[in-house]
Amino acid sequence: MTRPGLPRVTPIALGALIVACAATPSPVVPVERAPSPQAPRAKPPQPAASAAPAAVPAPPPAPWAWVLPVDHGIRADRGGGGAFLAPRAHGSHNGIDLLAPVGTPVLAPCAGKARAGQNSSHGKWVQVVCQVPAQLALPPARRVSLFFAHLHQITGLADDPSEVALGAEVGTVGKTGNASSSIVAAHLHFELSVHDDESQALADHHSGRDQSDSAAAHELGAAVGSRCLEPQGLAQVGGQLWRARRADPFVILTCLGARKPAYSRPSGKLAEASFAWSTRYRAQTFDVDREGPPAVPERGRAHP
Ligand SMILES: [Zn+2]
Repeated sequence: MTRPGLPRVTPIALGALIVACAATPSPVVPVERAPSPQAPRAKPPQPAASAAPAAVPAPPPAPWAWVLPVDHGIRADRGGGGAFLAPRAHGSHNGIDLLAPVGTPVLAPCAGKARAGQNSSHGKWVQVVCQVPAQLALPPARRVSLFFAHLHQITGLADDPSEVALGAEVGTVGKTGNASSSIVAAHLHFELSVHDDESQALADHHSGRDQSDSAAAHELGAAVGSRCLEPQGLAQVGGQLWRARRADPFVILTCLGARKPAYSRPSGKLAEASFAWSTRYRAQTFDVDREGPPAVPERGRAHP
């Protein structure tokens, strides 16, 4: 059964996806100089154990991590609701607002490429581009762009993309950009979009204008739907999980293995703006306020 809000993928398309995923990617052939027309020089003697190393397969991508060290749930205050696709003056909210005090560290959800900048609406922002965990068996080029806005500080990143480690601090929660109003509680604006490859993901400026559909989003939607949402009975209450290539970050992060801290109501003024995850989400096999679902099983083991 197709859940409301999920990209529709026909059995034929899903079958084609599985076939495509099973195909072995072409090995990378190292570039070698053309052989010299002169007589080859004698090689120096080599120890017996120093034969050319066999090709070593790339290690599997690291699992994802939750993006804050605390969980105070979803923001909802006089400035607006922080849920995915909540009504906004410009249309719909493209992300989720994670309520947290100013200065809370923001953590890289994966080992990937990251960049940072600043503009009038997002304030200080950081973008981290992640590979989809191997358990979902998507084509290896697929990438997810995770975007964080209204930061107080950016940690060690610039406009040019650089490598970032899983769980590394990339900034701190703040109230910059259009979150500076006194009626808007401090929060992390957290947005997620799906792309064909790394260059396309890094080119997404999360301006809200690019809402085009993508095959990569359909693939990820189908994989998450069949291997996480349906088995776990996970759903958003009365809402949608997808808007073209953008997805509900809470659902995707939890389905892709990020284990968030247990929800706790913040102290002081923030407590009035805190909504627990269970006000928006339901799951049959785990408590959405406490943790994420069990890790997605390896493909081939889910159905003996
Ligand atoms: Zn937001």
